[in-house]
Amino acid sequence: MVTELYGEYRDLHTRSSIDRHVTERLSQALLDVSNGAVSPTIDVDAFRAELAEMDFGSPHAANDMIDWVIEKMTTGQVHMTHPRHFGLFNPAPTHAAECADRIAAAFNPQTCVWSHAPVAVDIEAHVIARFASRIGLPGSAGGHFTSGGSEANHTALICALPRAHPDYAARGVRALDGQPCVYASRESHLAWLKLAHETGIGRDAVRLIDTDGNGRMDQRMLRSAIQRDLAQGNVPIMIAATAGTTNAGRVDPLHDCADIARRHKLWMHADAAWGGGLIASERLHSELAGIERADSITIDAHKWFATTMGAGMFLTQHTDLLANAFQVSTSYMPSNDQSVDLYVNSMQWSRRFVGLRLFLALAIAGWQGFAAHVERGVQLMERLTGTMLNHGWQVANDSRMAVACLIPPTASRPITDIVTQIVDDNQHWISQTRFENTPVIRACITNGRSDEADIDCLATALEAARQR
Ligand SMILES: *Cc1c(COP(=O)(O)O)cnc(C)c1O
Repeated sequence: MVTELYGEYRDLHTRSSIDRHVTERLSQALLDVSNGAVSPTIDVDAFRAELAEMDFGSPHAANDMIDWVIEKMTTGQVHMTHPRHFGLFNPAPTHAAECADRIAAAFNPQTCVWSHAPVAVDIEAHVIARFASRIGLPGSAGGHFTSGGSEANHTALICALPRAHPDYAARGVRALDGQPCVYASRESHLAWLKLAHETGIGRDAVRLIDTDGNGRMDQRMLRSAIQRDLAQGNVPIMIAATAGTTNAGRVDPLHDCADIARRHKLWMHADAAWGGGLIASERLHSELAGIERADSITIDAHKWFATTMGAGMFLTQHTDLLANAFQVSTSYMPSNDQSVDLYVNSMQWSRRFVGLRLFLALAIAGWQGFAAHVERGVQLMERLTGTMLNHGWQVANDSRMAVACLIPPTASRPITDIVTQIVDDNQHWISQTRFENTPVIRACITNGRSDEADIDCLATALEAARQR
């Protein structure tokens, strides 16, 4: 029994036997998950009672506790690794990303200063540079890994504010001559409201622009909102275009947004948290045309790029603003190099080496591997929408991404009943949402392990559920 906290380090044999145990149990658990229920089946009350008993008053054998955790996890969550999980953008992680996570954990580099972890910091910077170049950003562009899309979007806002007024860094919103305004579509990711709160510009700053009836930011409405704000003495700051909406995979008119931003000297941000996956595919890349004109871009690695959770990317052409916004100097840090040290270029201080997940997966599969993954998801979605159209359903969203907003034929059961039944049957996971004010069933393919049979099974389940 390992009761000493670092006992396994003194005994490498124990360590590797525990590692092997974890690996074996995990492989079996993941197999069980793909053949089992998608949603939690655990008796939550019984679980909580067991948990409450654990007062850490006495030690347990490592293998016993590992088994306990894996057993609970196997029945205690919605499983993104299940091939019939057609949910939000949460992926089944690639094995490469999983391995990278373990390697990063074992070495546990502190990547906030370059001198502490030059290899890790350079690997991340390399991945960011390859993404910037693939998108078509100038060679001077840079950025960093974040905890996810929300942090990346937050960083965009933090860069846009001092650009709007040089005194913002010192005086905050009081430096501005009026109410700051951020423009995003009604279909954007509403973390913008939280971010407005967090930055101190207030939720009122977010102008949710109407969509054009087809899920994209209405450019006429955007122009008149900016005019109205200017006329009222408000201070327009940023246009946050969405490149792949969360609901429906729609892309705001990026060139138009960039034109308007340029005319009014606003920061143009492109939120491609999920949709950014398309840059892997030469065939689909052009769906994001205009993204290269953005001042900053969000892409999540933990969505279509299939890393483990908590990995996003922030890219910008204006790296000087990062250094400006996040600068600080203290005597206890070993260095203060604005050109490489991440603690003076990003929101985080101590940071995890999350970029290794994407580096390793890309190095192993190549862009072509990711292109095939993304294109396959799109093809499978076309198969699903084709089948549903044949059954008399409608597809509400006109998207080239792997997400469908489905409307059953008239005289079907209500959408809530259909979705509830499918989720309760626990063979598939789908969700319901609203697209352009109409309730729809949302199905999305992010899992690279879903195949034709899984799609056909979902189609059959949907058609059966709407008739009951
Ligand atoms: C998922 C998503 C976000 C939020 O990203 P997190 O990684 O969940 O923080 C922001 N914008 C869009 C368009 C998204 O799809």
